[in-house]
Amino acid sequence: MTTQKMQKRLFGTNGVRGIAGKDMTPDLAFSIGLALGSMRRGRIAVGRDTRTSGETLGKALKAGVLATGCDVDDCGILPTPALQYIVRDGYSGGAMITASHNPPEYNGVKIIEPDGTEMGDEETIRLEGLIFSSKSEAASWDRAGKEKQVTHLINRYIEGIISQFPGLPGNGMTVVVDPGSGPACITTPKILEGLGCRVLTVNGIMDGTFPGRLPEPSAEGLKNLSDLVVSSGASFGVAHDGDADRAVFVDEKGGYIEENAEFALVVQSICRKKKGIIVTPVSSGQVVEETARAEGSTVRYTPVGSIYVARTMRTLLENGEPVIFGGEGNGGLIFPDHQFCRDGGMTAAMMVSLLAESRKKLSDLISYLPERYIVKEKIAVKNGADIIASLPRCYPDSRLDLTDGVKIYNGDSWALVRASGTEPIIRIIIDTNSSSAGTEFYQDLKSRLKTLLE
Ligand code: MG
Repeated sequence: MTTQKMQKRLFGTNGVRGIAGKDMTPDLAFSIGLALGSMRRGRIAVGRDTRTSGETLGKALKAGVLATGCDVDDCGILPTPALQYIVRDGYSGGAMITASHNPPEYNGVKIIEPDGTEMGDEETIRLEGLIFSSKSEAASWDRAGKEKQVTHLINRYIEGIISQFPGLPGNGMTVVVDPGSGPACITTPKILEGLGCRVLTVNGIMDGTFPGRLPEPSAEGLKNLSDLVVSSGASFGVAHDGDADRAVFVDEKGGYIEENAEFALVVQSICRKKKGIIVTPVSSGQVVEETARAEGSTVRYTPVGSIYVARTMRTLLENGEPVIFGGEGNGGLIFPDHQFCRDGGMTAAMMVSLLAESRKKLSDLISYLPERYIVKEKIAVKNGADIIASLPRCYPDSRLDLTDGVKIYNGDSWALVRASGTEPIIRIIIDTNSSSAGTEFYQDLKSRLKTLLE
């Protein structure tokens, strides 16, 4: 089975994004609403993150949907995975106003399908066609849509996660949550309390100016989280990006856990209960595959982007293949028994359960994982796509994976070279079992690339 990426005009890997009022305007939000209502007739659920531009853009998008004669259920401020969970309950589609991890001045829209997954490439291209051709249809005066406030539905999502972990696994555990002033302020603390944890928060009040830290949960921005974990004697700290589909962690010593190691730790815990297939993009760290293999499971690779992971998981399951888990090496993990999208709140709950079962400290569990070295580089080029197309010729004797860019294997080490879709650069990731092997691989790759760059 192959999943091919398709080029879109407006939407990127995770929806439309841009600076609010400049690229992401109320006009554009209205057009998206009009196109969505034309394509997915019925009842559309709309939600947003805490960004200051969210209310304006949300109202414009809802006006577009209502104009087509569709009804709108406004779910208010909530995490993207919460909206995705709600949409599955009889909606014809959903729209989330969010720019995820981007800085405060950005905003955007993610379109949700009735099954809770993000809209795939083919349907997104159809939606773009409606936006650009202005062919969306407004309904007549006697068929205009109606809007309803349904902010209470967020509780379904919170309870849905808690029900996955019976028996109060968090009893006696202190956890610190840093929702980064985003929508997880009203979900993750409640989820973890529902699991029995004592919960403390940092940046726990919703605020679209993001006064405490940026929406991207980087190690540098999480110092306050680390400090409170250590001073409170917490078992771990968890932080989310701006729409809480991702979760990253600090251990009980306040140390940041690299996201591929986080992914591998959850893989290990899941694979110890059942064997099967883990689905992940070609860019994910080798630690994930090594860990899965050590536990008797296998990994299936997809192009980069959570939507390709989610859709591949669904297709494989429909074909009777035993998919047990999926995700990306950025803290975006997909639990198929819960729903087919990345879910930060679910990931936080999983960490509680995993620690309770292991009876070990998080820093110890991480130290037992295979040690890997990752180098990330970028090289300025004029025509990245041509270089990617020619690169396989430079490696006639190597095992290559062409799922997305060129992945060159050398034993259990590899280099992934991809052209950026938005900038004139190629991005390189090298994953090896020693830092000297990484340097060597990169020097060799650079010398082979040189012939293509000249
Ligand atoms: Mg996100």
